[in-house]
Amino acid sequence: MEFIDTHSHLYDEAFAGEEDLALQRSIEAGVTRIIFPDIDSQSRAAMFSFADRHKENIFPCAGLHPTSVNADWEREMMEVEKHLDRKIIAIGEIGIDCYWSKEFLEQQKEVFRIQLETASRLDLPVIIHSRESTELIINILKDLRHLGLRGAFHAYSGSKETYRELDRLGDWYIGIGGVLTYKKASIAETVKSIPIDKILLETDSPYLTPVPFRGKRNESSYIPHIAQKLSELTGTSIQEIAATTTENAQKLFKI
Ligand SMILES: [Zn+2]
Repeated sequence: MEFIDTHSHLYDEAFAGEEDLALQRSIEAGVTRIIFPDIDSQSRAAMFSFADRHKENIFPCAGLHPTSVNADWEREMMEVEKHLDRKIIAIGEIGIDCYWSKEFLEQQKEVFRIQLETASRLDLPVIIHSRESTELIINILKDLRHLGLRGAFHAYSGSKETYRELDRLGDWYIGIGGVLTYKKASIAETVKSIPIDKILLETDSPYLTPVPFRGKRNESSYIPHIAQKLSELTGTSIQEIAATTTENAQKLFKI
């Protein structure tokens, strides 16, 4: 079985000096392709240099993360611009985060719109980070419907109604990760209403570690545990989960 981790930060300093080992473990677990969403100028160089060393396995994105939007956002966006002509497979991760802080909410919205326009101009998919912001994000996507956007909703925690709304808005995929394995996670119920051909697997490593490793650093090699849980919840074989989610990621990100 082969898997794609569509959202991983193996370049994070949590892996300092052990990134290559973590990648090796992933490949051994069948997670042969990994997508790296960008955060900001602090970690970008590490992300691209890791990706450049493993072009067959790692696929980087460019974008400014909503929690990195602050008074300095214009300078940060100029930094993102510098990388748009290299080989990136998506604009991300971008979005709105009202959980950590609303101090720069207006700037977050502006930066999100700018980056959605960039994705449309470059004909790239987007990876959306949405935390306590689903309605704001859906409203912006409705507003920009003419841009013909497509992409992934990372760490999806919305309802099945929200999924239906998204589905009417265009070609949107749902990123499912370790939260699925947590007790009382509402996504465990919601996921039964989302067609498998719209689901992407992701770890968000080093965060959101699946059971039975919860509490430890998360890494891409844990994807099969998420797939196994999805298999149990949906009554679909793990082989079919692997094949379909891999195909979905290949289609969306053209990898
Ligand atoms: Zn992320």
